Amino acid sequence: MSNQENTISIVGAGVSGIMCALTLANFHLGSKKVIKVFEHKKRVGGRAHAIKVQEQFIDLGAGRFSPQLHKNINELIAHFNIEHESFPFTQLTRPQELHSELKEILNKLKPLCAEHKDESFLDFLTSYLGEEQSKDIINALGYDSLSLPFITPNIAYDIIEKHPEIQGFSDNAGYTWRNLKAGFCTLPQILYKKAVELGVEFHFDYELITIDTHIKKPALTLKNSDDEIIRITQGDMIVTLPPTAMSRLNCNFPQDWTHYTYGSIPLFKGFLFYDTSWWQELSLTDHVIITNNPIRKLYFKDNRYIFFYTDSEYANFWQETSQHGEEHYLKTVKELMAEAIQCHIDQIPDPIEQTHKYWIHGVEFSKECSPTHPLSFVHKKSKIISASDAYTPHCGWMEGGIMAGKSAALKLLKRIEAEEESMTDSHE
Ligand SMILES: Cc1cc2nc3c(=O)[nH]c(=O)nc-3n(C[C@H](O)[C@H](O)[C@H](O)COP(=O)(O)OP(=O)(O)OC[C@H]3O[C@@H](n4cnc5c(N)ncnc54)[C@H](O)[C@@H]3O)c2cc1C
Repeated sequence: MSNQENTISIVGAGVSGIMCALTLANFHLGSKKVIKVFEHKKRVGGRAHAIKVQEQFIDLGAGRFSPQLHKNINELIAHFNIEHESFPFTQLTRPQELHSELKEILNKLKPLCAEHKDESFLDFLTSYLGEEQSKDIINALGYDSLSLPFITPNIAYDIIEKHPEIQGFSDNAGYTWRNLKAGFCTLPQILYKKAVELGVEFHFDYELITIDTHIKKPALTLKNSDDEIIRITQGDMIVTLPPTAMSRLNCNFPQDWTHYTYGSIPLFKGFLFYDTSWWQELSLTDHVIITNNPIRKLYFKDNRYIFFYTDSEYANFWQETSQHGEEHYLKTVKELMAEAIQCHIDQIPDPIEQTHKYWIHGVEFSKECSPTHPLSFVHKKSKIISASDAYTPHCGWMEGGIMAGKSAALKLLKRIEAEEESMTDSHE
């Protein structure tokens, strides 16, 4: 594979990387430049990954979007006519006692956030409501990241307002949510096909192992599973890896790249399939329960399947539980599910199939969560561009990936334009 100067090398074929490649290709850059995308896995989509189980598509990673919040995603889905359906989980069933007064409590405290902007949400709540009620509130919200020390009151309110299960405790109660019928990865897959049609080359099974950020000789070194090494030393370079993947490389990330710092939290999704949709009789269809136990959020997807979704310490809990074998895992799920539904354990049949997925770095974000964080940035010496959903106000969402990918592409286009202008000037 040649590394000519007119090559643009993009690493990562998640939604950020593909959007970046497609934006460049759409500017007819393909006629002047060779655009190559290198991806570690043998598929596109990164954390948007669906599989088919019992004839159903299930989203192991990214699963839903709101047209009101995720404008770019909504536009792309409409543009490519991708089939979508309601993600109906904005209605809680089997509410906890605290749920009835939660909206009022949160609304009362919201104006006080400004006075506590550098404190944690937990400390903020504790200073007004005491420790016990504060912990109960976070428990009743079902997202355990809300109790992490770097989650400030402003970030916490943002999380509450922008998640379907708990938006009802905010003024965003009317927002609608959708999911893609064949899984959220359909979107990156379609963007990938369009990019290929426009001449973008994709190279799968290539892991970026080092980034040399030398001012005159920047280089990317990639390795495939046959231990073949590619060294890219010329052309423009864009890496669209999340911060944890960047910090595993030898490029002193984030210190040499930006003054922001990053964190991540684990996520776990468990799916259960049954030969009958027994939950219909219990009026659970299309409802979500926020539980007072490690299941945390339990969803009944029409008559198709049940899933639960946890973050932070409970994601680790389920990962550990699953490592003790399927029997132990399913027994634990069943006991906790019965407790959540408030039914007898015998009312819950055994699933005919189950699957689950643990994402050690499920959500990646900037700890400063500043609105001035650039959507992508350029390494000062090597000029390598870095982009990730974690840099954007929509970190943890596909919307953020689209924004970051586009931003990286536009940065490069500007640079190319400036280079072309300066060449014309020097000729003149
Ligand atoms: C469980 C879960 C639930 C989620 N739910 C939602 C949701 O409901 N709605 C929503 O909008 N978003 C959701 N997200 C977030 C969404 O998946 C991400 O925001 C989005 O996928 C980010 O895209 P990205 O391209 O920036 O990063 P990624 O998707 O992480 O893509 C990065 C790519 O780089 C590749 N890569 C990494 N390291 C290397 C390397 N060294 N060399 C080469 N390639 C490398 C990876 O294989 C990957 O393909 C969820 C995520 C998870 C995990």
